[in-house]
Amino acid sequence: MDRIFNFSAGPSMLPLPVLEKAQRDLINYHGSGMSVMEMSHRSPVYEEIIARAEATLRDIMDIPKEWAVLFLQGGASTQFAMVPLNLMPQGGSADYAQTGMFAAKAAQEAAKFGTINIISSSKADNYTHIPAIGPRDVTPGASYVHITTNNTIFGTTYPTLPETGGVPLVADMSSNILGQVYDVRKFGLIYAGAQKNMGPAGLTVVIIRRDLLGHAQPICPTMLDYKTHADSQSMYNTPPCWSIYVAGLVFEWIKEMGGVAAIEKQNREKAALLYDVLDQSNLFTAAARRDCRSIMNVTFTLPSQQLTDAFLKEAKAAGLVNLKGHRAVGGIRASIYNAMPVEGVQALAALMQRFEARHA
Ligand SMILES: *Cc1c(COP(=O)(O)O)cnc(C)c1O
Repeated sequence: MDRIFNFSAGPSMLPLPVLEKAQRDLINYHGSGMSVMEMSHRSPVYEEIIARAEATLRDIMDIPKEWAVLFLQGGASTQFAMVPLNLMPQGGSADYAQTGMFAAKAAQEAAKFGTINIISSSKADNYTHIPAIGPRDVTPGASYVHITTNNTIFGTTYPTLPETGGVPLVADMSSNILGQVYDVRKFGLIYAGAQKNMGPAGLTVVIIRRDLLGHAQPICPTMLDYKTHADSQSMYNTPPCWSIYVAGLVFEWIKEMGGVAAIEKQNREKAALLYDVLDQSNLFTAAARRDCRSIMNVTFTLPSQQLTDAFLKEAKAAGLVNLKGHRAVGGIRASIYNAMPVEGVQALAALMQRFEARHA
């Protein structure tokens, strides 16, 4: 069966060359006589795999040595608890930007461990935009400011990063890590589930400034203490070996493609194909405010549920799948992460134009 264009928000498409390489090495990895799924994580052959994955990620994201890279499990959702448990003292406080459903969940979870201030929110506007944050918005004594760089469900992103005046900036980067260039030095901590832009589900990447390690609350479980994992090179217990291996292949693919800056350029061109159609349309309406549009998740609506269903049906028949929007927005969501080829986006843009010609 031929591969189709899969616009899923996550787990999402992986680059075909990565899948082919994983397939070639599946049964007998580099003459080891076993697959990566079957080998001891303490074996020299696996140690090389995890070390190379980290080194390649450091290379493509330009991660300074003062930041630790951790390969964890539990998804981005576990980070909603790990961040406050590690970065906020008992009885302390932290600031959160409420810019989407995951952002709201992160704040809600953190409130179990301290005082949480919502310092910006677009909830009243159903998260169609992202309010700016300046140093004067930061609460005195806050341990960190938490943002979601890309709001996967609503299709919004920060046009510019908040200035927090020295308070560590913590980012849930699950849906746009490696999709555009970010200066890691601007963040105290970055976390991301792998299954959108990095690899298979089961891996969570954390990038943390080393001086933020070692301050976990006394109640913090050992497995949720970043220091546990930093001190043991993400090998305190069995890591998600296979997911790390495939993510490593994705990092190498990005490097071969010219790095994150080259990928970002391509992503902006891909997103522009869809936003150009939306801006000229009398049928489709972009869901996100123009200044906060995501280049990873493009959200838009049609005038009726009937037209939405008809569009989804035609898209599926044309080999464009998983375009149904999240129920909080309705309509259509096209997730066009790094691995979505430009041909897939061109096919979607062309379908939108054909559909409009018939229905407008
Ligand atoms: C998908 C997503 C999450 C949830 O990730 P899990 O790995 O399923 O826990 C959290 N935040 C953002 C921004 C996401 O896109």
